[in-house]
Amino acid sequence: MPILDEKLGDIYDEVLRRNPGEDEFHQAVREVLDSLGPVVAKHPEYTDAAVIRRLCEPERQIIFRVPWVDDSGAVRINRGFRVEFNSALGPYKGGLRFHPTVYLGIVKFLGFEQIFKNSLTGMPIGGGKGGSDFDPKGRSDGEVMRFCQAFMTELYRHIGEHTDVPAGDIGVGGREIGYLFGQYKRITNRYESGVLTGKGLTWGGSQVRTEATGYGTVFFVEEMLKVRGDSFDGKKVVVSGSGNVAIYAAEKVRQLGGTVIACSDSNGYVVDEHGIDLDLLKEVKEKRRARISTYAETRSGARYVEGGSVWDVPCDIALPCATQNELNGRDAAVLIDNGCAIVAEGANMPCTPDAVRLFAEAGVLFAPGKAANAGGVATSALEMQQNASRDSWSFDHTERRLADIMHGIHDRCLEAADRYGKPGNYLAGANIAGFIQVADAMLALGVI
Ligand code: GLU
Repeated sequence: MPILDEKLGDIYDEVLRRNPGEDEFHQAVREVLDSLGPVVAKHPEYTDAAVIRRLCEPERQIIFRVPWVDDSGAVRINRGFRVEFNSALGPYKGGLRFHPTVYLGIVKFLGFEQIFKNSLTGMPIGGGKGGSDFDPKGRSDGEVMRFCQAFMTELYRHIGEHTDVPAGDIGVGGREIGYLFGQYKRITNRYESGVLTGKGLTWGGSQVRTEATGYGTVFFVEEMLKVRGDSFDGKKVVVSGSGNVAIYAAEKVRQLGGTVIACSDSNGYVVDEHGIDLDLLKEVKEKRRARISTYAETRSGARYVEGGSVWDVPCDIALPCATQNELNGRDAAVLIDNGCAIVAEGANMPCTPDAVRLFAEAGVLFAPGKAANAGGVATSALEMQQNASRDSWSFDHTERRLADIMHGIHDRCLEAADRYGKPGNYLAGANIAGFIQVADAMLALGVI
């Protein structure tokens, strides 16, 4: 790890001391602090007003019990979280994750990242995140509904279109947002569309929201290629994961002339040299909610590898779209050896610090999640705009807005990287540009 300057080192030590055992949160804070040396050197006003120290402490953290009854009649207890991290730029905005690994440290890492991501979109949204250690895998529709209703029965008092606007993340898609919205409406007796995003198209949702995170990541990479006089044409791409982000990243790669030759789930990966059949992948994952081994059983020519790492498959471009810390130093070394030139994070913090360091040393272009995957939350902000004006836009119009936003984020990263002496460094640029906008708003709003 690089050495932090003294002031930033003290802030990091304080974060470690105040948040024991929250490794992912430490990692997310460290990644931002590593980029801020030149910023604090040039702007003592941020340190004088303790802006970074305030940013590292969430404005509000809510932890609650979620009791529900399973199909056999047994009472189950899960833990619910909502961390309202920073509202300098707008209402707290960020998804809910339902996954057995969820604990406060995961929610805080995601909420912290969300502040800078949302800032980079240039839209009026603050940062927050929530979720539960509930595992939707293998649960019936009825169980998922009862869980969502129990979760919202506590959450509703903390959210609102001008306060905090949750959405989906891992384990929370259209079905869950439906049950959550239904319960919010029932308890409050208000049809408040702007309280959640990721809604269905017939009840206040936005076109392109489902596709937005994956499409946005690929628009970002398209821009990275374009400034180098290149394109997706003929490129081999490996995508990890096979959820919403991975599926729609793969779809956009294909539309732009690239070939996605592999994808994965937590059990293994599939290699399909002719290009992943997206209709089949959607059928397996979205309709049947099955494992990707089913894909390989159905498609001739596809190979399923149980266990192992999808990053062993040689490619020009790697898009980690599964989960945090899924691509480690060993994987990075293999990708580099195989000639991979670009890595862009569709998931939140999928590359370990070791992997990121190796990419930088090898000259692999690296786009961090807070820039590359911001298309999802940006389209949520477009959903909020449509809800506020009781309007709904066409698919084409919304997709054009998303593409423009991603191009804007790309340019903002490069411009900030240049200005602070790190030309071409998307990681530094994203952290610096995201930080400065929030920091300036915090200065303007006073010590609150
Ligand atoms: N969970 C997504 C993210 O990581 C989207 C959040 C949202 O739409 O509010 O950015």
